[in-house]
Amino acid sequence: MDTGSWFVQLDAWQVMALGLVFFGSLYCLGGWGMTALTRSLARRGIGRVLDARALKPDQLRREWRQSLHSVLIFGIGMVVPWGLLQLGWAQLAPSASAGRIALEIAALLVWNDVHFWLNHRLLHTRRLVRFHGDHHRSVVTTPWSTYSFHPIEAIMLGNIILLPMLVHDFYFWSLASVPVLSLLLNVIGHANYDFFPRVSDTHPLAASRRHHLHHARPAGNYGFALAFMDQLMRTRVESAPGPR
Ligand SMILES: [Zn+2]
Ligand SMILES: [Zn+2]
Repeated sequence: MDTGSWFVQLDAWQVMALGLVFFGSLYCLGGWGMTALTRSLARRGIGRVLDARALKPDQLRREWRQSLHSVLIFGIGMVVPWGLLQLGWAQLAPSASAGRIALEIAALLVWNDVHFWLNHRLLHTRRLVRFHGDHHRSVVTTPWSTYSFHPIEAIMLGNIILLPMLVHDFYFWSLASVPVLSLLLNVIGHANYDFFPRVSDTHPLAASRRHHLHHARPAGNYGFALAFMDQLMRTRVESAPGPR
């Protein structure tokens, strides 16, 4: 498989253009795909909608507008990891076995949850919460809420791969998988849909329920796709008992 040397050889303008197309396509595909999937599951009686209340007037338009800003930040921001490679501060592994790629992706996903919990917890402190209010304006979430942040939040969450790149020479495709998997998990988190109503709140398959609860009651459940950070840091919030 290609080692990613083509990426290093691009110039800064090409990297920014690629970043905009990449993150714009991810957001659109994730939003459309998840909307279609939850509609189809609801029609078949598989799973359940978490919050059936109507969206706020203009909510979708606001989510799209804010997400456009995030796509600009993430897309243009692709020059930062590219810049680390140009400066020689980070390097890519020239080759990797399938096992190594799987390990790298697993480590990056765990780091993703740690990084998200830390930044999200900071965003709920008194000083920074004003930058997080934009995201919480979506009380009933939609797949389009996924990137609807204040620009400061987009910068905080968007730097996920920088620190790992400084400490380890990743294979290019392991790094490239992070925004794709992250978008996928994030779109699940904001789907407003309980895909597996029978599993417990801490189960990996209950991520959408946990993040839905965070939007309904923002004190707690700061984790991303997995529950381990909220369990370790004792910030877990349980869903109200009742029929599932
Ligand atoms: Zn959210
Ligand atoms: Zn929050």
